[in-house]
Order: sequence, then C-alpha cells, then structure tokens
Amino acid sequence: MLDHGFVRLDAAMATDLSVVNAARVSFARRKESMDESDEGLIRFLMRDRHGTPFEHNAFRFHVRCPIFVAREWFRHRIGSFNEFSMRYARATDDFYVPEPEDVRSQVGKPGAYSFEPVDPEVAETTRETLQDVYETAYAAYERLVEQGVARELARSVMPVGAYTEFYWTVNARALMNFVSLRAAETAQREIRRYAEACETFLQRLMPVTYDAFVKNARVAP
Ligand SMILES: Cc1cc2nc3c(=O)[nH]c(=O)nc-3n(C[C@H](O)[C@H](O)[C@H](O)COP(=O)(O)OP(=O)(O)OC[C@H]3O[C@@H](n4cnc5c(N)ncnc54)[C@H](O)[C@@H]3O)c2cc1C
Repeated sequence: MLDHGFVRLDAAMATDLSVVNAARVSFARRKESMDESDEGLIRFLMRDRHGTPFEHNAFRFHVRCPIFVAREWFRHRIGSFNEFSMRYARATDDFYVPEPEDVRSQVGKPGAYSFEPVDPEVAETTRETLQDVYETAYAAYERLVEQGVARELARSVMPVGAYTEFYWTVNARALMNFVSLRAAETAQREIRRYAEACETFLQRLMPVTYDAFVKNARVAP
C-alpha cells in the first residue's frame, strides 16, 4: 500500500454461517452449512438493519500506514488497536511521498471538495519538499536521541507522513461501517486505498454478507 505500507490479514474467524446461526439461535436452530434460504436471511438482516448477528466473527489486520492515515483509522471505536510505540522503539525512517499522480489540488467547499491533478512540476516540487522536510526532521530526531533525549520526547519532531504499524481486530459489522465510510469517494485517497484492501478480505471470507452489503447501497447494518 502506498510507498512503504501494507495491509495483511493476520488471522480471521469469519464466516457467513456464523451470521445465520447467530440469527437462528432465536429459534433454537443451528446449521452446519449454508443454503439459499440462509442467503435470503442475510439479505433480510442487512436490509432491516438487524446488525448484531454480524458481530460474531473477527478479522485481525496488521497494517503499516502513514501516521495521518492511522489517526483517521483510530477514530473507528468499535474494534481493538495496538500500535508501534515511538516511546520504546526507534522511529522508522520510512515516510510517505505520494506518487506524482497522487499529488492533487483541493477545489470547492468543505464537504464538497473535488481533487484535481496538478502540473507535473508542482507534483515534483511537492515530492521534493516532502523529502527535504522528512530528511531534516529525521536528522533532528537522531541528533536528539544521540544526545540522550528520551525517544518519547524526541519523536515530537516526526511528521505525520512517517509510517506507523498496528494490529486492528474488528467484527464484520464495524468493518462494513469502516468500508462504507473510508472506501467512499468522500474519504481521503490514502485511507481509501487501505479500506479497499480490507474490503477484499471481507468479500473473500464472507461473500454472502459482502454481497448483501453492496446491494444495500454499502450501508452497514
Ligand atoms: C469523510 C470523513 C470525514 C471526516 N471528518 C472528520 C472531521 O473533520 N473531524 C472529526 O473529528 N472526525 C471526522 N471524521 C471521523 C468521523 O466523525 C468518525 O469519527 C469516524 O468516521 C468513525 O465513524 P463511526 O463513529 O461510525 O465508527 P465507530 O467508532 O467504529 O463506530 C461504529 C458505530 O458504532 C456506534 N457508536 C460508536 N460509538 C458510539 C457512541 N459513543 N454513541 C453512539 N453510537 C456509537 C455508531 O453507530 C457508529 O456508527 C470523518 C470521517 C469521514 C469518513
């Protein structure tokens, strides 16, 4: 993802059948495999926003992304996070420099921006400016650490373009909410790429749920 990032599915306990069995426990019923009526049940649950049966599963993602992407991600409260610590470990010297085609301008009003390509020279200057700032910031960080300043303080010089790493464990209901908001046109391009990657794992592991989510205009139940 981007220039130094990734999304990795570390582990999962996630099936469409778990949705069906969670719903059918109301009638003391349980199934060992899915059939057509179960697909209909999942569509009904999605459409009528019976969300809790979509919570009996878990996706554990391992993510590497710029700090500004992580800040947006961490706003999603339903889920568990553990992040790399710049108090205990040396900061990474990997920083996000967008590809020239990802350098964009911002046109319009808040809530209705459109993002337009910039001239190639502006794109190149932007990339060089970022690179210069990152190098200066990282050199300052190293100097401070060498002088004996605690990492927890020295990290103050690090820009939000620095990469961080975290684990995120989330259920399908909250994942659909995340995908709905962050794989959308209105989301920032960088987090959108990550959300799209998470979406492919949801599709792979819970295809019936995913299909119902898409048919439900990508609104989480
Ligand atoms: C395009 C975009 C722009 C944004 N801009 C800003 C911004 O300018 N400033 C800013 O601060 N944030 C901004 N955000 C973040 C946004 O406000 C949410 O914090 C973030 O998207 C998490 O969404 P969520 O609360 O639905 O997710 P989660 O926190 O994962 O919650 C999932 C669902 O659980 C329920 N829930 C969770 N907690 C509560 C609660 N305390 N009370 C009631 N129900 C709860 C809600 O139904 C919620 O939808 C932006 C988000 C997007 C997608």
